[in-house]
Amino acid sequence: RKYQSVALIIGVTGIVGNSLAEILPFADTPGGPWKVYGVARRPRPIWQADHLIEYIQCDVFNEQETLEKLSVLTDVTHIFYVTWASKPTEAENCFVNGSMLRNVLNTMIPNAANLQHICLQTGRKHYLGSFESMGKIQPHESPFHEDLPRLNAINFYHTLEDLLFDQVGKKEGLTWSVHRPGLIFGFSPSSLMNVVGTLCVYATICKHQGLPLIFPGDRVAWDGYWDASDADLVAEHQIWAAVDPNAKNEAFNCSNGDVFKWKHLWNSLAEQFEIENYGIEEEGDKRLSLVEMMKDMGPVWDEIVREKELVPTRLEEVAAWWIVDLCFQGASFLDTMNKSKEHGFVGFRNTKNSFIYWIDKMKAHKIVP
Ligand code: NAD
Repeated sequence: RKYQSVALIIGVTGIVGNSLAEILPFADTPGGPWKVYGVARRPRPIWQADHLIEYIQCDVFNEQETLEKLSVLTDVTHIFYVTWASKPTEAENCFVNGSMLRNVLNTMIPNAANLQHICLQTGRKHYLGSFESMGKIQPHESPFHEDLPRLNAINFYHTLEDLLFDQVGKKEGLTWSVHRPGLIFGFSPSSLMNVVGTLCVYATICKHQGLPLIFPGDRVAWDGYWDASDADLVAEHQIWAAVDPNAKNEAFNCSNGDVFKWKHLWNSLAEQFEIENYGIEEEGDKRLSLVEMMKDMGPVWDEIVREKELVPTRLEEVAAWWIVDLCFQGASFLDTMNKSKEHGFVGFRNTKNSFIYWIDKMKAHKIVP
């Protein structure tokens, strides 16, 4: 078969990597027909077995392994970099994530003669500051737009951008784009931060234990306006930037284009898991974090998995309680999609539909009942 473009997805089992792996092979995807290579650290998971990709297990933090396994992919035309490693300090994040990107680019730029474009996914912490600096530095005033200067604090997103800018300069005609989603709604049971997946697991445990589905956050988060980034939309945004000349050498925010309130999505969550007793606790009640509430639930999850004949997973794999605890506190920080629209990307998602779509996907793949 003759392909017009050849994609290399780094982080193919991640929350956006999985969407790219599904969408790129479609017959009507812009720039297609696409041949797709997908890289992740662990063996190919069964929940990704159907995507029409060539799966490559490779730890891109390992320089030698990256060179051995990726230098043979000489036909790659586009790289989609949708991975990261989480380390205890931002200095370590800079070192490890910088090494991973450097290993990939040092391998691919000299070996893939037809390489045309690199999409780098970072995120809204570009405007908020790293997890480590939250509460210590002043974030930008929202709604965030792409012309805002970098915050004056160490951030691994800066490391990645600087590496990218430096490396693309080494090859005539090679272009880049940076994509900055907010909270991503998508499907990946092995993502480090999957809010919808984590909420599905929480609701499943509440249902199983006969507990009310309490919103594990504060009133400001419950009542406020939020936005989200659908993983398929983020994938479409990257594919747009990969093929459209109007998107070259620019950074873009990427969000759904509407706002929602958690108190409304909470109704949907309760409905999807048939829980009648749900809501937020009264003011003054002592609020426990999800991390605390769920700390002994490993065996309960194992029991649910067995009883409902789910795909075997460990609780710590499918539930990132910390990210929900972090998100459900205080006010949100919205971004604007004006720049994407001005450059020709008019994609959007209805966030409530998106939320339910990804819950359905979790059920269809038997990660939750
Ligand atoms: P993810 O955690 O969902 O997936 C990471 C992928 O990379 C997985 O496939 C994993 O197997 C793979 N991987 C990890 N280490 C690897 C290694 N050493 N070698 C090979 N593969 C490896 O990723 P994500 O959430 O899409 O994160 C990508 C970027 O998006 C990060 O910068 C993150 O901060 C940002 N972001 C994420 C969210 C979110 O809600 N998840 C929101 C905004 C921004």
